[in-house]
Amino acid sequence: MGRTPFIAGNWKMNKTVAEAVELIKELKASFSGVQGVEVAVAPPFTALYAVSKELKDSSICLAAQNLFWEEKGAFTGEISPLMLKGLGCHYVIIGHSERRQYFGETDGTVNRKIKAAMTHGLKPIFCIGETLNEREGGKTFSVIERQIEGGLENLGAKEIEPLVIAYEPVWAIGTGKTATPQEAEEVHRFIREKFVKMYSRPFAESIRIQYGGSVTPENVKGLMSQEDIDGALVGGASLKQETFSKIVRFKEI
Ligand code: PEP
Repeated sequence: MGRTPFIAGNWKMNKTVAEAVELIKELKASFSGVQGVEVAVAPPFTALYAVSKELKDSSICLAAQNLFWEEKGAFTGEISPLMLKGLGCHYVIIGHSERRQYFGETDGTVNRKIKAAMTHGLKPIFCIGETLNEREGGKTFSVIERQIEGGLENLGAKEIEPLVIAYEPVWAIGTGKTATPQEAEEVHRFIREKFVKMYSRPFAESIRIQYGGSVTPENVKGLMSQEDIDGALVGGASLKQETFSKIVRFKEI
């Protein structure tokens, strides 16, 4: 199918600058020789500059965990796409469930952020996923559909070409509960078919869909063997070199 697997580590609100530098040095060393897999790390904002310097001659991509849609101005505490671009970021995570849950992000704000990222040449990792209540209420597919339609409102296929989707069932994030490969694949297929309806079959086949939610070295192989799972967005297990490098090297397991 030609979709390069994409593994990204979301460090969330972890790691001081010194700790981040230590981890990225270890990761750089442990990824040497890995081929055919794209890798990104998303340190907290405070460590982006230091990690960016460490990544100068590396193929590991730099990602931010969030952005605000304005370029500059009186928006205390926010970070603009221009600032992230200036730091050397390639990707930006948008609409993570923790941002939706704790910081009031909606499909509308996610849409504005995706547009701002695209305008400034940052590739969005667009997170979607249902809560446990929604899954148990049989609403998984309608929630996913609403999040995709809202997040991508007024965006054409050309504009969102570099976009990556991360399907992250909220009940699986940081809980140790992973969706089975079959459960995840069912939703990934649904997402791809949604892109067929919204855009076209060739476009839908080209878009990468990561799975996120308690991915570990133990379960990554099963997940990655599914036809429509093209990578992983990894939280907890990306904070240690031993576990993250095993996940990145899933082909060797
Ligand atoms: C995440 O933060 O996107 C995530 C999936 O976290 P964890 O791997 O810890 O469940």
